[in-house]
Amino acid sequence: MPKIGAVLESSSACLVTDFPKCDFRGVAQARGADCKRWDMSKVRPVVVLIEDDVKLRRLLRNSLQQEGFDVREADCGRTGLIVAATKKPDLILLDLGLPDIDGSEVIMKIREWWSARPVIILSGRDSEAAKIAALELGADDYVTKPFGLPELLARVRAALRRASRHTHANPTTPFCSHGVSIDILHRQVTRNGAAVDITPNEFRVLAVLVKRAGMLVTTRMLLDELWGPDSSPQHRNYLRVYMASLRQKLEPNPTKPVLLLTEAGVGYRIAVDDTQSAELTDEAIFSASQSSKPGQTED
Ligand code: CA
Repeated sequence: MPKIGAVLESSSACLVTDFPKCDFRGVAQARGADCKRWDMSKVRPVVVLIEDDVKLRRLLRNSLQQEGFDVREADCGRTGLIVAATKKPDLILLDLGLPDIDGSEVIMKIREWWSARPVIILSGRDSEAAKIAALELGADDYVTKPFGLPELLARVRAALRRASRHTHANPTTPFCSHGVSIDILHRQVTRNGAAVDITPNEFRVLAVLVKRAGMLVTTRMLLDELWGPDSSPQHRNYLRVYMASLRQKLEPNPTKPVLLLTEAGVGYRIAVDDTQSAELTDEAIFSASQSSKPGQTED
């Protein structure tokens, strides 16, 4: 699968492209099972795409529309903020290197408006420091250019599922992925149906990751949640020990984890697989996308 986003173009003029709503039901039928994910008869989740690379923006717009999203575009930060404020999107895809203001300023403004609206960064900046800075400003996830389209779409779905759980919080529903079930309410963990003995601190690590399932959680965020802002370097070592122990208990092959993933130098992510996708229905995602619009009351 070729990577996209390698060609970067800049543009000094800002524009808004507001695409008319189209009827995608025919496309959904033509795409068959692949399109069952989105029920096109319902209101489509709105994605605001803030990206100054014309070719990349066009490619992403077409791909997201084919997946059933209502895409609104902007090619600079200020216009992106206007579009976001006007359209009240369900999710924002944001380039950091914009021609007018830096994407980090856009993140901060969006977080002033909505504390939980998903923001996924698309950026050519692949340093650990850039990723940590964006995530700690409030971005939910970070995709480095060039990236594969399936990877980006998976991240978009994971972010929408997380947002849906935020809106439709149901602590009685365990998180399930890769044969592991984590019941936060009852503090129970099973693997392939068998109970797993988890220490209290290991459980706290899992709880933080499950709260942001599918998203990248920085080491600093984990340390703050577990030990507060005064955590010491020693706590980083404790965290590594807890993660190693959890992998021993929960992974089929702890040396090649599929559930508890490390983003080197940045943090950790608990992977969401298809069982979790099935657990949260499309209907829940769509009703979340609708209920979060009028009045902005959820955050
Ligand atoms: Ca750019």
